[in-house]
Amino acid sequence: MDDKMTRREALKGLFFAGMGLAVGGPLLHSVNANAAVPAALPWDEAPDGTKIDTRTWDKMGETLGMLGLGCMRLPTKSGGGTGGFGRRQPLDQDAVNEMVDYAIKHGINYFDTAPAYGESEVVTGKALSRHPRSAYKIATKISNMSGRPTLEAGKEMFETSLKNLQVEYVDFLLLHNLQNVAGYNTRFKDNGLFNWLLEQKAKGRIKHLGFSFHGTNDDLPGLVDLYDWDFVQIQLNYADWKDMSRGWGSGGGSATSSEFLYNYLVGKGIPVLVMEPVKGGALANVSEGVAAVMRERHPELTPAANALTYVGSLPGVMVTLSGMSNMAQLKENVSLFTGFKPFDEKEMAFMLTVADLYKSKGQIPCTACAYCMPCPAGVDIPGNFKIFNSASDALLSTETARKDIADKRKAFLKLYNEQPKAVRADACVSCNACLPKCPQHISIPQHMQRIKELVAKI
Ligand code: SF4
Ligand code: SF4
Repeated sequence: MDDKMTRREALKGLFFAGMGLAVGGPLLHSVNANAAVPAALPWDEAPDGTKIDTRTWDKMGETLGMLGLGCMRLPTKSGGGTGGFGRRQPLDQDAVNEMVDYAIKHGINYFDTAPAYGESEVVTGKALSRHPRSAYKIATKISNMSGRPTLEAGKEMFETSLKNLQVEYVDFLLLHNLQNVAGYNTRFKDNGLFNWLLEQKAKGRIKHLGFSFHGTNDDLPGLVDLYDWDFVQIQLNYADWKDMSRGWGSGGGSATSSEFLYNYLVGKGIPVLVMEPVKGGALANVSEGVAAVMRERHPELTPAANALTYVGSLPGVMVTLSGMSNMAQLKENVSLFTGFKPFDEKEMAFMLTVADLYKSKGQIPCTACAYCMPCPAGVDIPGNFKIFNSASDALLSTETARKDIADKRKAFLKLYNEQPKAVRADACVSCNACLPKCPQHISIPQHMQRIKELVAKI
């Protein structure tokens, strides 16, 4: 281990001991920049030769790049990066190949996809299969959330994933979107699917077994107790650290916080995989007031880099998954995790004050995952929320006579009206079909009604 990294780890140890956070002591063997990728790879001859930092997880015998490529928001042929679950837009294979090549060349070895992400498995499989199998770890899921969760359907989903990804085994298999034990029982226990997955693991077709979690603090312990999980994937970011607020207009519900989920898992000795470190892009596109506060402290970091650094600074985090949609995002993130500079205790505390400021702007906590789509009435749910969030503070302000607020409201209206009529919030018929699908538990119909009212008022 090089001296620089040893010092960093020492710093982290002190920091987290001071904060009273659980540290992944027995899990985290070392952090060692540029050590994980086999030297024989031809891409080692890249001009800069740099690779992202890695962490080694002794129990599962894996050394993983600290940054993973989330393949839910891969570049689409239409130019956007919204090929996520429920949208199923055709993906741009050439652009994905370019991103995957760059990622592997720079030490990213964790690629996360799912049957539910439209073409993602197929396209990711094509891109990865051009590289030696030892250069990458593939994570995919059993996304049996809709329809009847039968054993046969679950088996078929797994076999199709192997075929799509062009692999003989999956490195990390996740039970997708578990919320509580009742849901696990219906989808995996009662139909015998979990036992079948254990058989596949014994045969070496699954290396590590875990689940992605979208429940409340109260729901996690029951799921953790079900099995000796190799890892668990949770939503973690600075805005959700203290409270994964359901946001303005929500129906409330039981508490969830990244802090509880993280500390609970680390306390149990379970490596933590992080999704939504930038809250589906929301923390990359914070309002200027929030961005300015971060810029004053770290002029060299973008809002997204601040969010990723917050997550990477937690030692129990195995991989920080970022759903990147273009080369610019990938390059910025690779650069951040190469010679990664963690926040110290004061900086971590500072980010929680940024979280308070961010939340005071009243944004809807939508991560643009598109799990709620398609809407039977045709509403572009994440699209409308994105437009609302671009001006949330002005829309919720009572100081409507102020010029800056009036200007922001006008800009909102312009964006709103630029959408085709059929996808606007006005088209929502409050059928509630989207409600159970949202992993953020956002009261979508309520928000749509409120947006309609705001538009009418402006
Ligand atoms: S409640 Fe509204 S947004 Fe949700 S599915 Fe129904 S029509 Fe679409
Ligand atoms: S409303 Fe919920 S399900 Fe829909 S895109 Fe946003 S976070 Fe995802």
